[in-house]
Amino acid sequence: MISCDQCSRRAVIFQKYSGKHLCAQHFEEDVHRKVREVLRTYRIFGKPCRIAVAVSGGKDSTSLLMILHKLFSYREDVELVAVSIDEGIAGYRPKTLQAATALAKKLGVEHVVETLDENFGVTTDLMASGGHPQGPCSFCGVLRKGLLNRTARELSADAVATGHNLDDEAQTVMLNYLKGDVDRLYRLRPKRALNGMVPRIKPLRRVPEKEMGVYAITHEIPFETSACPYISRAMRQEVKDLLNDIEAKHPGTKYSIMRGFEKILDLQPPGSYEVVPCSRCGEPSSDGICASCRLLDLIRAEQSL
Ligand code: SF4
Ligand code: ZN
Repeated sequence: MISCDQCSRRAVIFQKYSGKHLCAQHFEEDVHRKVREVLRTYRIFGKPCRIAVAVSGGKDSTSLLMILHKLFSYREDVELVAVSIDEGIAGYRPKTLQAATALAKKLGVEHVVETLDENFGVTTDLMASGGHPQGPCSFCGVLRKGLLNRTARELSADAVATGHNLDDEAQTVMLNYLKGDVDRLYRLRPKRALNGMVPRIKPLRRVPEKEMGVYAITHEIPFETSACPYISRAMRQEVKDLLNDIEAKHPGTKYSIMRGFEKILDLQPPGSYEVVPCSRCGEPSSDGICASCRLLDLIRAEQSL
């Protein structure tokens, strides 16, 4: 048996980047410490606040809800509400929503489910059947993000917390470097509440993906493992494999990528990202028509052909 470096209990994980074996309790403390450190940077939790937690039902978002509940359930000034977006993906989304509902119920957290169908009159299955060359993800992602923001605003949330982990973030940064997309890179920085935009926070951004899996299992969190049938992130998968290879040879590389990225963000002059309300629906946009309205125009035009 390999024991924990901080006590004599059995280790449940070895962190190559820190050189530590940790038991279930010390591992939990380590994850919670990283999450607290990230949360401090957002400066939201010093005053009464309401946090909308985006819960899809996978291991990251369900663990996020559990972690925030553990950290804040004793505080009367912090209120959590779980929000799920149902994009309309038969055979997949109902299962993940079940996991999200089960956990919210177990924790006694309010759970709000909004559907693309009821809000926009479209579903991802319908968009996928349109046979667009770029695949349904670009539509589905934009509409989900827009609806999540609107739902959080209607719930008077001070922030939307999402379950992006260290691996997700490092992959996104690398992808934007590889594509030379500096604008998108800057759009990843935390935003203030501007013109209807609810700030997004990513409390798990310093926790590696593998550790989120171990956290979910050691805490017996109900989560769904099946993948969306439309998943087609060819380049992201290549970047993921590449980063995992480099991380195995040079532990800590994913953390280095994020440290470098944060230094670059510091160089950005303030106010260079404008947000104005969409002239049609009032949601935030960069130029007067939001991304959701643009996409819906496209989809409706195709449907009427
Ligand atoms: Fe939507 Fe694509 Fe994610 Fe599936 S993989 S839920 S289609 S964005
Ligand atoms: Zn709009």
